[in-house]
Amino acid sequence: MINFGYNINKSSRIDLDKDLNIAKKIVKIEPSFRTCIGCGCCTSTCSANNFTVFNLRKIQLQINRGELQSIRKEVEKCMLCGKCQMICPRGINTRNIILAIFKVID
Ligand code: SF4
Ligand code: SF4
Repeated sequence: MINFGYNINKSSRIDLDKDLNIAKKIVKIEPSFRTCIGCGCCTSTCSANNFTVFNLRKIQLQINRGELQSIRKEVEKCMLCGKCQMICPRGINTRNIILAIFKVID
């Protein structure tokens, strides 16, 4: 591709320097983490999302991409009510994923 010195679209290149081990550690604690299809049902039913901006689907995506900035601040918004777990079409133990995130990023 010709390099014009600027891009119209945001670069889609993957930064391999990011920490992808966090996702692996979470899968070890909660194997269902890897089966997420990113449908967003968890986010649409989330209790915390009624009070603030909280997106569990996005958090999972960011962890899989190794984008860990402000993850802790985000997961602290979760009330561990379990509604997302009841609605998840893949039967993912989302509450355990939240707890695993705390364990792994500390
Ligand atoms: S509802 Fe389940 S499969 Fe869908 S995004 Fe949430 S965790 Fe992933
Ligand atoms: S457990 Fe957390 S992420 Fe799931 S619905 Fe409740 S507040 Fe939202």
